[in-house]
Amino acid sequence: MEEHAPLSASKKCPHCGFWSQWQQHSNDTCERCGQLLDPERNRSEQAQEHARNEPLPQFMLMEIKPGDGPVLRFFKTIIRGGQLAFGATVSFILWFLTMLAG
Ligand SMILES: [Zn+2]
Repeated sequence: MEEHAPLSASKKCPHCGFWSQWQQHSNDTCERCGQLLDPERNRSEQAQEHARNEPLPQFMLMEIKPGDGPVLRFFKTIIRGGQLAFGATVSFILWFLTMLAG
């Protein structure tokens, strides 16, 4: 960032090797093939965005994968529902304790 002015920066496209104009934004695309110049950074920003919108920590969520069979999917859905209910209960208890303390 220190030796390049943002407008004159270029980045080698990881997909086709073409040196493209790069505004140092994570969603800049290659001038030749149109793919993201910095897909990794874009991915991590999307992950952060996702984490911000996620009310529960990742480890509390049961991941349902596309390859899961209907039975596995069924049980995971139930477990996930239970986890959400548990989270809501904990929030309620915390809220209740806060009310008592105040
Ligand atoms: Zn390209």
